[in-house]
Amino acid sequence: MKRRIWDKQTNKYISQFSGNFIVTMKGSILKDKFTIFENLHIMLRVRPYVEPVVQCYNCFMFGHIKAHCKRDVKCIICGDKAHGVCNDRLNCINCGGEHKSTDRRCPVFQKNKELKVIMAHNNISFIEAERLMFGKHDVPST
Ligand SMILES: [Zn+2]
Ligand SMILES: [Zn+2]
Ligand SMILES: [Zn+2]
Repeated sequence: MKRRIWDKQTNKYISQFSGNFIVTMKGSILKDKFTIFENLHIMLRVRPYVEPVVQCYNCFMFGHIKAHCKRDVKCIICGDKAHGVCNDRLNCINCGGEHKSTDRRCPVFQKNKELKVIMAHNNISFIEAERLMFGKHDVPST
């Protein structure tokens, strides 16, 4: 959002930004605060932008969308090849659990969501985030 305010020092209208907006930064250093337009003295508070988890509505796997899917269409209920009305037991394609493949409580979805958060906060790739996460999980929690 942009607001026009009168600046007494310069006797001109200046634009002031308000609200949240997304700033993409190059490099790996994420600062808490930074000045976007030095001359306007606008300070922004930076929160890492967490990408949403992408799920395919063709094969129900994560990390790609339907438009890019080369797999067979799957049944959302039983996880087999799509076959129309399904009276089978719920079987999640991603974890084998007893829920729809699009269920947000699915542990595989939760894992993907966590990875996105790790990616955003550490400014790293999906693979690096996965390594970080599994590195942690390798330690037995007894
Ligand atoms: Zn797919
Ligand atoms: Zn089915
Ligand atoms: Zn599942």
